[in-house]
Amino acid sequence: MPDLPFPQPMASGWAFAGAGAALEIDLDAIAANYRLLDARTGAATCAAVVKADAYGLGADRVAPVLEQAGARVFFVAHLEEGIRLRPHVSPGVRIFVLHGPMPGTEALFTRHALLPVLNSMEQLAGWRAHAAQAQKALPAAVQVDTGMSRFGLSEADVATLAQAPALLEGIDTKLVMSHLACADTPANPANAMQRDRLRAMAARLPAAPCALSASSGIFLGPDYHFDLVRPGAALYGLAPNAQAPNPLRPTVRLRARIVQRRVIAAGDGVGYGLTWHATGTRRIATLGIGYADGFLRSGARDGCAWLGDYRLPILGRISMDSTTVDVNDVPESVLDAATHVDMIGPRRSVDEVAHGAGTIGYEVLTALGSRFHRTYRQPVACDASPCQNKASV
Ligand SMILES: *Cc1c(COP(=O)(O)O)cnc(C)c1O
Repeated sequence: MPDLPFPQPMASGWAFAGAGAALEIDLDAIAANYRLLDARTGAATCAAVVKADAYGLGADRVAPVLEQAGARVFFVAHLEEGIRLRPHVSPGVRIFVLHGPMPGTEALFTRHALLPVLNSMEQLAGWRAHAAQAQKALPAAVQVDTGMSRFGLSEADVATLAQAPALLEGIDTKLVMSHLACADTPANPANAMQRDRLRAMAARLPAAPCALSASSGIFLGPDYHFDLVRPGAALYGLAPNAQAPNPLRPTVRLRARIVQRRVIAAGDGVGYGLTWHATGTRRIATLGIGYADGFLRSGARDGCAWLGDYRLPILGRISMDSTTVDVNDVPESVLDAATHVDMIGPRRSVDEVAHGAGTIGYEVLTALGSRFHRTYRQPVACDASPCQNKASV
């Protein structure tokens, strides 16, 4: 953080007087979630997905903590994300780039020690040509499409490669991977179908460790772990399965400042469009958080903030920089002492906010903006002794 002229924490614990809202990111919880997932996946390597700036939480801060917790393999989506991540992890740490090399970018992968995920025959040809130029085999992952129709070689592509192994010349296949479409619904037969397809397709490619599961897939059981798993969301505390209790620790707390309080009369409207009207005298408060902070406008429906054990329903529409809540049930003495309320916290998880807004926790997290005052809770020191019996990927 740059030095700003508000260094003194306020008596209430509010850390920063110059922002409308504060986002506290718990790096200790992220490390603990990594260790839980690593333990759950036995001998499989537990990688860490830090695309989209570690789901909005700050890859530069999150990745070193994950490495300290034992992660040796990272995934990002784009080349530029990989280039930005590289200095924040050790040279021996592998970074895979999920979208692979766009034509002409191959040399940047080698220059920054990034491994592409090859998703198509075109990307494969580009990497093969790059290896020929370098006059040595170059490491990469190969993705196969087992049913999601998004990324990866088709069954026909794999058959072509099985017929003509020269097409893989110079490609040092470190990983054969695919991705599950329905892992958050364990009963969906698509899961087992994709798993079996990965086995069949991998058998026709050069022998290499295999990977299928992201966060939710890990909880489908060992049959889905293969040699490496790629959790993202679960590291950041999102529930892998909406029907089961969440075993992961929450990693963010979002607090908004109470900017103003007022008493309104019966018939008074609140916010843009005056979509909410008081039916009697009502005490309300205006908070310093809005949709420009990534606090989704759709979250107004059934949305709320919390002040301790008091639920504060959101009134009317969320504005760009502010949100109005009902504080009628909160005793005046409690309000007088309060400077801020929880938007995400012990009483309302990211997943609950998402449910209210008609979306998923992934979107709520990745939408959280850059305007908050951000603080990081450091991990509690712990001996990250690397697991002895891990497959080497
Ligand atoms: C985003 C992504 C992941 C991580 O998914 P989560 O559901 O967040 O754990 C893993 N693998 C691939 C290919 C992805 O695109």
